[in-house]
Amino acid sequence: MADILKEVLSFIPQKDDISDAVFEGANIVLYTKKKEFFLNGNELIKGIVNSIKKRVELRPDPSIVMNQEKAEDEIKKILPKDSGVSQILFDPQRSIVVIESEKPGVAIGKNGEILREIKEKTFWVPQVKRTPSIRLKLIENIRDVLYENNDYRRKFLHKIGKRIYDGWTKEKRSEWVRVTFLGAARHVGRSCFLLQTPESKVLLDCGVDIAASDDDQFPILDVPEFNLTQLDAVILSHAHLDHSGLLPYLFKMGYRGPVYCTLPTRDIASLLALDFIGIAQKEAKDTLFSSSDVKEMVKHTVTLDYEEVTDITPDMRITFYDAGHVLGSAQVHIHIGNGLHNLLYTADINYEDSNLLHKAATKFPRLESVIMEATYGGRDDNPPTRQECEDELIKIIKETFAKRGKVLIPVLGVGRAQEIMLIIEKAVKKGLIKDIPIYVQGMVWDVTAMHTAYPDFFHSDVKKAIFHKDQNPFLSKVFKHISSHKEMQEVIEGGPCVVLATSGMMTGGASVEYFKAFSSSDRNTIVLVSYQGPGSLGRRLENGDKEIRISETENVSVKLNVHVLRGFSGHSSRKQLMDFVRMLDPKPKKIILVHGEGNKCLDLASSIHKEFRIETIAPRTLDTVRIR
Ligand code: ZN
Repeated sequence: MADILKEVLSFIPQKDDISDAVFEGANIVLYTKKKEFFLNGNELIKGIVNSIKKRVELRPDPSIVMNQEKAEDEIKKILPKDSGVSQILFDPQRSIVVIESEKPGVAIGKNGEILREIKEKTFWVPQVKRTPSIRLKLIENIRDVLYENNDYRRKFLHKIGKRIYDGWTKEKRSEWVRVTFLGAARHVGRSCFLLQTPESKVLLDCGVDIAASDDDQFPILDVPEFNLTQLDAVILSHAHLDHSGLLPYLFKMGYRGPVYCTLPTRDIASLLALDFIGIAQKEAKDTLFSSSDVKEMVKHTVTLDYEEVTDITPDMRITFYDAGHVLGSAQVHIHIGNGLHNLLYTADINYEDSNLLHKAATKFPRLESVIMEATYGGRDDNPPTRQECEDELIKIIKETFAKRGKVLIPVLGVGRAQEIMLIIEKAVKKGLIKDIPIYVQGMVWDVTAMHTAYPDFFHSDVKKAIFHKDQNPFLSKVFKHISSHKEMQEVIEGGPCVVLATSGMMTGGASVEYFKAFSSSDRNTIVLVSYQGPGSLGRRLENGDKEIRISETENVSVKLNVHVLRGFSGHSSRKQLMDFVRMLDPKPKKIILVHGEGNKCLDLASSIHKEFRIETIAPRTLDTVRIR
């Protein structure tokens, strides 16, 4: 038995009160066969938590819980009629029952009295979750994968705990910290950094660059310092493919360690990975990984909330902070070696409130080094404000409509799409635009449904609206969901409309199909709201190309109007990046610029150094930087 578990058990006066002591990741769970102790042992557990400063939970041994059928009847009897319970799910391995309710507050009861009654009568540990306002098959599939494998999960989480507390009593020996940049150095796309100490090896993101040529598509993993079998953990900042796209491939190659991310990131990353396979298959390209690899990834994720502190190796402790970039996006704060060093990996940040999300956090407990994005870090990257762009978008839609034309907005399925939906919904409510069907294509709709499942990660205004069914902006009647090819054809042949479709850079997917159909008429308009990678179709349109070669056999001449609106970006503008650094609290000693084209990383590095007197670096791919 691990030393820390022995230490925890030494606090229990009656040894036979505890039937099992296991890890669930960094958490310690004690199981008891004594009903008395289960109901009254909490004071004792609190004492242990205070003493060892780790999370400890007491649960009933599976042998003493009420039979599931009986328990379900009992729970239904106890829950108030108006709690709107939609589902009751049992996790027998962990003695937990999940109650899905439309009104979690009612199901929990005043000071948790209803939960307490369930506990006392059934000996299950009840957890209440909000019923999502749009049901989505994929979320249910992910849940099924986790439930089907809960025996495996229990062992897997115990194994992680054993690794984390390996050497609990040992002297900590981290005297250096270094980061190797395997991708996204002076480049946007394929984010992947290897963080090492003498004790741990952790990967920060593992993305692809879909717009790049073959050689630059993937992070460079065939280097001596990268060894999949020695990797302790992967931390995923957010779901975008340039941060998550190669993760299932790691599982294909045999990785079986944990992936840390937020709940929305887990679900959206799975959805994007499956979509990525789908697009490759449609284009008859080899797929990099299969859906069973995505399943493995899901099986190995450990989800964390913002500001939830957790140990991930013997010398690393991480905390996620809001990044303001897309739903569930996180900045990763890493506390290394018991006070030795504190590193912040911002990943992609938006330092401005949007309709959807709050701006990126800037206050951290301690901070010495920062790895920061520089997507729009160039001196000239100061786009019009969000408000100007919102007004402009509504104007473009009205003008196109007056000409009886159609508006295509290519979007990354995640983030920008929902932001645009909120803006349009707001304009419809205000009466600024009228009677326009807004078509939301395939995957965009699925991601939107996912958004409604996690209201806690939104801007507080949207969160409030989602809790009231009739005010939920995503359920507004102006949005029409397009799921079949036939419906898509009807949109193409039909009258004026707005279409939101992926992919955002038009590297494939429905946005390219709509573009081909709309491009021949100057009554139609395309509005580019996302970052357009070099070489992508979107970038060629931005550059004003009038003849676009789609494939060997297909050329399209561009007659439709092209508008570029930069202010909706999920990334910070140059000014916002500088403001973010200014507001960082405490002030770091070193800032490493990544995730930007070379001149932007260098430009931002020199400006930060000049203005704030902080040491800056813009590493190249495969550079290793010692940060301590
Ligand atoms: Zn991103």
